[in-house]
Amino acid sequence: MSWDFENDPEFQPKLDWMRTFIDEKLIPLEPILGKVPDEQWQVVKAHLQQQVKDEGLWACHLDPELGGLGFGQMKLAPMNELIGRCMYSMEIFGNQAPDSGNSELLAIGANEAQKEKWLWPNLTGNLRSAFALTEPFEAGADPTRLRTSARKDGDDWLINGHKWFCTNGSCADFIIVMAETTPEGRPHKHAGMFVVEKGTPGMRIVRDIPTMGHPEPKLGAIGNHAEILFEDCRIPAENLIGGPGDGFILAQKRLGGGRIHHAMRWIGQAKRALEITCERAVSRESHGRRLSDHQMIQDFIYTSRTEIEAARLITFQAAWKMDKVGAHAARAEISMAKAYSSRMVLGVLDRGIQVCGALGYSGDLPLEEWYRSTRFGTIGDGPDEVHKVIVARDTMKGIEPVEGWPTAHIPSRMEAARENFAAIIGEASA
Ligand SMILES: Cc1cc2nc3c(=O)[nH]c(=O)nc-3n(C[C@H](O)[C@H](O)[C@H](O)COP(=O)(O)OP(=O)(O)OC[C@H]3O[C@@H](n4cnc5c(N)ncnc54)[C@H](O)[C@@H]3O)c2cc1C
Repeated sequence: MSWDFENDPEFQPKLDWMRTFIDEKLIPLEPILGKVPDEQWQVVKAHLQQQVKDEGLWACHLDPELGGLGFGQMKLAPMNELIGRCMYSMEIFGNQAPDSGNSELLAIGANEAQKEKWLWPNLTGNLRSAFALTEPFEAGADPTRLRTSARKDGDDWLINGHKWFCTNGSCADFIIVMAETTPEGRPHKHAGMFVVEKGTPGMRIVRDIPTMGHPEPKLGAIGNHAEILFEDCRIPAENLIGGPGDGFILAQKRLGGGRIHHAMRWIGQAKRALEITCERAVSRESHGRRLSDHQMIQDFIYTSRTEIEAARLITFQAAWKMDKVGAHAARAEISMAKAYSSRMVLGVLDRGIQVCGALGYSGDLPLEEWYRSTRFGTIGDGPDEVHKVIVARDTMKGIEPVEGWPTAHIPSRMEAARENFAAIIGEASA
């Protein structure tokens, strides 16, 4: 299967290196991940990360002033697709969420002292970060409904509230917490972002929540999603990022790139899932012929390939627009890419599991683990429904109601069409 658009000749070798590195070094390690002692894995991980750094491909999503290469989204698209081929590539290539989004946020909103303390160590991987917005009772799909509050107490802030699904919250060195600072005023101006460091009195990690991706989380392990209580948690004024009402503006900036990068990686994951599906289909026989010769299996393959191609075109279009006019102007295209690709990848994985039969359902192939862990995609970073609303509103923007629609509208168009037609006959016979 050939999927590629042509890339710049000087850029293609980077993609070739990534492909070889991921397929020949990372993917073969997948079966033993999580089954080797953590201290050994840390050594192997650091060694692999160093190879990526030596190749100049570490944290490519970052702008040059942060040590990245300043690639636009059109170059990041094929790179992220490759990263999506293997579950743990993000960590090896230095763009693991939530650190990736948090570093972009600190780069935009933090002052020099804050960058020194949290951004640079976060970029080198010396400090791990988390981001806490979602709450059990209100704030979630609608982030403006924060109940967690931050109130001034002398020079400090006191944070009180309840957060959950804070990825890496239980192992992070610092958490960026969204809290309501000014209850009055416009909803999008009433929240601020605070850095809360590990061990701050008043912050209590309640538990790591069991999820589809991690049904039995080991407390404090990477990739878990923490529930956290803040009880009179005292934070110095210098831990506020930006102004007290800047939280939502900063949050929007944090999510723009992250959403499209999810879509890019899901395309890569779906492509590898389809490769596995096809290999199994041509290798296995059932009822007198190969699986790949059964038309219903061919329909699965057709649907998966077509949906991947469609997701890819939507995502490349969004990437191109982001490069041309920025993330805000490309908001609808980013939402379309994210909502379409999150469903696309689940469909491809589901068909893959079906074609591979019991093997597909087993842990011997990566499909079932991908299916469980990728299921969050239609919910996290804004549920699909919210993204669909953004796309629909954008599509209908500027379209005015037509009086009398449809009964008065169609005859009036007929009349105009007759006039135009008569005018052209007049021109033609002149
Ligand atoms: C694996 C994972 C990791 C996460 N990591 C983090 C993290 O690090 N930090 C963090 O703060 N949060 C995190 N989250 C939380 C995530 O951001 C929220 O789940 C998401 O914003 C949705 O909020 P909610 O779950 O509270 O859903 P709710 O707000 O309760 O919404 C539930 C459902 O209602 C529907 N709905 C909501 N609004 C609308 C609407 N306008 N129109 C139509 N239907 C609607 C949707 O179907 C939605 O799925 C994570 C979640 C998951 C699953």
